[in-house]
Amino acid sequence: MSGESINGGCHCGNLRYTLDWPDGGSEIPARRCGCSFCRKHGGIWTSNPDARLLAQIADPSQLSRYQFGTVTAHFYICSNCGAAPFVVSEIDDTLYAVVNVNTLEKIDSARFDESATDFDGEDTDSRLERRKKNWIPDVTIAFGQD
Ligand SMILES: [Zn+2]
Repeated sequence: MSGESINGGCHCGNLRYTLDWPDGGSEIPARRCGCSFCRKHGGIWTSNPDARLLAQIADPSQLSRYQFGTVTAHFYICSNCGAAPFVVSEIDDTLYAVVNVNTLEKIDSARFDESATDFDGEDTDSRLERRKKNWIPDVTIAFGQD
């Protein structure tokens, strides 16, 4: 089956991305995270080890990269509109990401396969190993207008 490109971004358009999804039209996992940040922010995340994420940040001065807890990931948040479209973790010189399904555009929410996750208490090594297996392993982030 051929893939599809799904566009998304923050509310004001400062953070934009294209998610290349390997299996066009297929179910999209949507994991409601139970961590303290995601409970406050409504974070519901998706990833696929065969997906690719191309992100563009038009005005880097309006980007907030937020870290907490084990400090192994950055939440990319638009300082202008407050949306958090994706999270990036750098592991062994590779960027991995998960995308907030609430920031996908023109997508039928019937495709979301929702589940709840809670990784509180997971140690850092297991956390990084899990990300290497499940997160999007092909991430490009460009800065500036193009
Ligand atoms: Zn924005």
